[in-house]
Amino acid sequence: MKYTPVVGLEVHVELSTNSKLFCGCSADHFAKEPNTNVCPVCMGLPGALPYTNIEAVRDTIMFGLALNCKINNFSKFDRKHYFYPDLPKAYQISQYDLPFCESGKWTVESGKTIGITRVHLEEDTGKLVHKNINEQKVSLIDFNRSSVPLMELVTEPDFDNVEDVLEFLKELRLIVRYLGISTADMEKGSMRLEANISLRKSDEKTLPNYKIELKNINSFKFLEKALKCEIERQSELLSDGNTILQETRGYDEAKGMTFSQRSKEDAHDYRYFPEPDIPPLKFTDQEIIEIKSHIPELPNQKRDRFKSEFKFPDEFLNYLVSSRETAEYFEKAVQLDVNNDIGPKTIASSMVNLKLHEEYPEASGLIRHLKEITKTKFSNSDETNKAIDEVISKNPKQVQDYQNGKEQLIGFFIGQVQKILQGGGDSVLIRNTLISKLGSENNVS
Ligand code: ZN
Ligand code: MN
Repeated sequence: MKYTPVVGLEVHVELSTNSKLFCGCSADHFAKEPNTNVCPVCMGLPGALPYTNIEAVRDTIMFGLALNCKINNFSKFDRKHYFYPDLPKAYQISQYDLPFCESGKWTVESGKTIGITRVHLEEDTGKLVHKNINEQKVSLIDFNRSSVPLMELVTEPDFDNVEDVLEFLKELRLIVRYLGISTADMEKGSMRLEANISLRKSDEKTLPNYKIELKNINSFKFLEKALKCEIERQSELLSDGNTILQETRGYDEAKGMTFSQRSKEDAHDYRYFPEPDIPPLKFTDQEIIEIKSHIPELPNQKRDRFKSEFKFPDEFLNYLVSSRETAEYFEKAVQLDVNNDIGPKTIASSMVNLKLHEEYPEASGLIRHLKEITKTKFSNSDETNKAIDEVISKNPKQVQDYQNGKEQLIGFFIGQVQKILQGGGDSVLIRNTLISKLGSENNVS
């Protein structure tokens, strides 16, 4: 390709604290009767005084630490002014020059390190609801979400491909969930994505003099599509000798295209100034270390540890760390298998391929079950061979796809074989036999 993408991200994450950021109202706003979770502070009534929810601040610092950020010993809140009906004070309490967290970094699978510019804390806005009432179009405002704590993470424009962007964002969601600070549920708007993207000539290192901001994108899939669209659109424009003007674009899901929302002329002047009603916040190094001590083992650390301890393939690792509960269930099960009768591989396989942990909510139940089948009918290699041959002959399409390079289908085959063996197969034996039987077409009967 002639051009290399230059991508930076802005991610908003709503914290699931009990109360809102600057008042005692419940922060749980989803699907609640409109305007039932409100008070003078979050309604922005004159004279109401905000006070800080320290839990939200600690959560933000914990998140910043997980992303290797430097934590400022001295931070403050600032007012960011703009006029919009869902913002009753006509300013948002946010952070400007002294955010809680700065200068972090995160290394993605490909080995590239992404700079984290900052992580700050701000209040969410209310919500506009557009309706037809008595055949009249009306816009209503629901302030239940107003002042719910919202973390904002900004990265450097360090991404140069879409795959790294998606991997980073998925890891981010996982980290937030491991920390237990947000549901990071995108359908409910608890995690919101924005990206800016431009293209530079592949043989030049300087950043382009424009960027396109992609806003209001509510799924990983749409972000992926929007970015790919932009790469194509911008390369065509640049190849034809056009200059690209800075603008904000949205993504039309139905048309599969990005579209212009606003151009640079209405760039905002937010007139930031320090929030006079909230004293600055100070954290000693000791206090920061204390917050750090609450960070659990993170998904990437678990993945690395499981890899070196158990030598599992990537599909196993990714599944086991896909939630903190799944990872802890697996580790509990391994612990309970004191004499290693079953072994970590079989335990993992029973979870990855058969989802047995969904049937046995307690790890002890899974172990009891696995021990039983090991004793009574642990399949010998004859039975396993027969089951494998059956699966191969019943799934010619998948066999062909596998042989054409879709190797992740191995999980599907293992699952089918285990189904026939009712979970009693030796997963290592099945995997190895399958691989050798599927390996070359001649071996397949
Ligand atoms: Zn309130
Ligand atoms: Mn923001």
